[in-house]
Amino acid sequence: MADRYLSFAGTAPGRFLTRRLGLPRPAPLRRWSPERPGLDGGLLHLTAGPSAPDLAPVLARTGLDPDDTTGRPAAVVLDARGVRDVEGLAGVHAALHPVVRSVATSGRIVVLGAPLDAGDHHQAAAQQALEGFTRSLGKEVGRGITVNLVRLTGAPAAESTLRFLLSPKSAYVSGQVIEVGTHEPAVPDDGDRPLAGRTALVTGAARGIGEAVAETLARDGARVVVLDVPQAEQDARRVAERLGGTALPLDITAADAGARIADALPDGIDVLVHNAGITRDRRLVNMPAERWTPVLEVNLASVLRTTDALLAAGTLKRGGRIVATASIAGIAGNAGQTNYGASKAGVTGLVRSLAPRALAEHGVTVNAVAPGFIETRMTAAVPLFIREAGRRMNSLAQGGLPADVAETTAWLAHPASTAVNGQVVRVCGQSLLGA
Ligand code: NAD
Repeated sequence: MADRYLSFAGTAPGRFLTRRLGLPRPAPLRRWSPERPGLDGGLLHLTAGPSAPDLAPVLARTGLDPDDTTGRPAAVVLDARGVRDVEGLAGVHAALHPVVRSVATSGRIVVLGAPLDAGDHHQAAAQQALEGFTRSLGKEVGRGITVNLVRLTGAPAAESTLRFLLSPKSAYVSGQVIEVGTHEPAVPDDGDRPLAGRTALVTGAARGIGEAVAETLARDGARVVVLDVPQAEQDARRVAERLGGTALPLDITAADAGARIADALPDGIDVLVHNAGITRDRRLVNMPAERWTPVLEVNLASVLRTTDALLAAGTLKRGGRIVATASIAGIAGNAGQTNYGASKAGVTGLVRSLAPRALAEHGVTVNAVAPGFIETRMTAAVPLFIREAGRRMNSLAQGGLPADVAETTAWLAHPASTAVNGQVVRVCGQSLLGA
């Protein structure tokens, strides 16, 4: 479903009217394409508090030029890890206040913070302050610019995260706080095809977001397995053929789904993307168990069951990745979606609890993407007024595309993202819901 308002707002009369009437003014977002894989412009590296020498070499590998001061910066990175008290926060203001206006359209602002120090409440206050600061700046900056906070200890472990956030691949990720641990990243052999030699299984990949995820992981070199219900077998085969992968017709709610996946893929898998999902909306007072149960079964119970089975069988190999699909409905709640909201919040709980154990015991990371309003068949079926509200109620004032969720999944699936574990990353343009 085309977003006509977005196109109109970009015309001269559209610009005039939206400004005069105080209407949302979405900017067309710069997304990744093979022809234009990077942001256009330089990188401004700023520091608040004592500077750390580990960041500059990492930023130098993002493809953005820190010495390019010719035009508007495409990205600003503020290293605020050294801020330990309220006085230090003045340095955050002093660094960004003069440059925010000059950031290029569809540019990036990334603030780097430190983990909160449980033994120093002044440091914790100052570092937590960065969260409110970042989220507020994201809501006011406009022009398709994203603002995110990354909490990290050492910059090398955060390289894949910084590369993602400082690229057009993260166009619809804003207002997020991402925590990066200390694991040393495995550097992929082939920078352009980081998943070469790896197998990725994507559930619900015959169409929509799942199809885009399969396509993006295949672009990154993975051999993809397109799993979907037997009724969607033709579509799944078409997608698999186009991507040089294989189709696996299977209802993921089958009690033995995990065993059947393990049988079908005796060489194991490296990436497991739990994307299959359904809605059966009704207010709770009108919701019979027949509408409750299938949503909990597809969106949550089958995710738990197959995860357990594939980890126990060793089908998911060491160095592997699990990316589950949550939703902002599971964070903010949504009228008519008690079943769906419960199932998606359950996914978040699964991720947070399993992540440390899965990494320690199996060498596998577990993260979730939480899409906001994404332009798919699912959202095209939403009544017009609610659809328009869903599209505009975020800092970027537009819906996301399946590719936005796919790129976020690809970053989490990247072999160098081992230090990103237990995260729930919203792909929602900084939705005002549940923010
Ligand atoms: P979609 O309906 O277009 O695609 C879902 C796919 O999952 C379909 O191909 C379907 O056949 C498959 N599927 C359903 N039940 C299955 C089962 N039992 N076994 C195997 N496959 C099954 O949906 P979408 O919009 O692409 O959404 C993908 C995921 O993203 C879902 O988990 C959804 O809840 C989540 N999500 C979507 C949005 C959005 O705005 N579209 C927002 C938040 C979260």
